[in-house]
Amino acid sequence: MNRPELQRSTFLDLARPELGEEEIAEVVDTLRSGWLVGGPKVSAFETALEQRLAPARVRCLSSATAGLLLGLRLAGVGPGDEVLVPTLTFAACANVIEQLGATPVFVDSEPGTGLLDLDATEARLGPRTKAILPVHLGGRPVDVDRLGALRDAHGVAVVEDAAHAMGAEWGGRPLGTHGNPTAFSFHATKTMTTVEGGALAIPDPALAERVERLRLQGLSRSAWSRHASAGPADYDLEEPGFKFAMTDVAAAIGIHQLAKLDGFVARREELAQRYDELLEDLPLELEPPAPAGARHARHLYAVRVAPDARADRDEVVAELSDRQIGTSIHFKPIHRFRYYRERYGLGDVDFPVASDFADRTISLPLHPAVHDDDLMDVAAALTAALEG
Ligand SMILES: *Cc1c(COP(=O)(O)O)cnc(C)c1O
Repeated sequence: MNRPELQRSTFLDLARPELGEEEIAEVVDTLRSGWLVGGPKVSAFETALEQRLAPARVRCLSSATAGLLLGLRLAGVGPGDEVLVPTLTFAACANVIEQLGATPVFVDSEPGTGLLDLDATEARLGPRTKAILPVHLGGRPVDVDRLGALRDAHGVAVVEDAAHAMGAEWGGRPLGTHGNPTAFSFHATKTMTTVEGGALAIPDPALAERVERLRLQGLSRSAWSRHASAGPADYDLEEPGFKFAMTDVAAAIGIHQLAKLDGFVARREELAQRYDELLEDLPLELEPPAPAGARHARHLYAVRVAPDARADRDEVVAELSDRQIGTSIHFKPIHRFRYYRERYGLGDVDFPVASDFADRTISLPLHPAVHDDDLMDVAAALTAALEG
């Protein structure tokens, strides 16, 4: 902060939740109602999610991480199995595979988008492959038609990580409706939030019932349905489950966030297009447009510093930070974390595209409260760093 002439008067956050009076009132109503867990707000939120993601069933959970773990569990993933997963993603994706006693097999990224490379994925399918865990990175959809073809031809499961991608579409239909368990995140930094929380879209009603049991210790009926039926508490335990349920306080927020989602995504899309225009002449690689029939949820706006630019990525980040502009790196690839690197003997040489992507990418501020003026500040800071 030694260059006060460059200071914005306020810090520009990378991400920021957009909560209104509706969310606050619904939380207060929930607190006054006495139903804090397993109650009607969770049911109402699930119904609204199912309307959006029909014909999929949707069950709310404590996080997307819980959704990924349960999605893999539904696919029967366990010891001895391999799961193909991109290295350029959040650590949760590999952690859930490890927690089930299975082996993550990391796959490189596709150039240009950084998404899971589907040619490399196909080449890595083997006799122990039980599932593929694609990630709709930044809200940009992976080709789920091609994944569905791999699933059907090879008898493997697909469990989609849509933590960034509520609101995204492939083939004109929302993610979560392409026949695979699909996990969404409502963490505070995501496009819509319940503070902490997630949901799993599930293609088949019987599997949805199993998710209901697994999210609450494996018990067969929730507290709310026991109460509502007023019958005997004839519940049972068929398999040991987890403690993965969403609270009604969280769902109360989610009901209103979901109603605002399309507006959030539309504003994000506008901002992304404005960024594209402002940054097109700088030595930056911008994301290619989404393919026809696809809708990008615009959770992240990421650019890559060109290899021959006069500043490297870390210098650009420092310049933005000096000017009170928040950035982040999505992501440090999983093969660079000590546990995974040492356990599986991995190095950058195995993942040249993802490693290069990770070295040059920067995520820029993007949320509905970003103003057009803020974008000018970001563009000015990038210009100063790259063209000095
Ligand atoms: C945030 C995130 C998750 C985990 O979401 P939680 O709701 O925090 O568990 C999983 N995958 C990706 C790509 C994420 O960014």
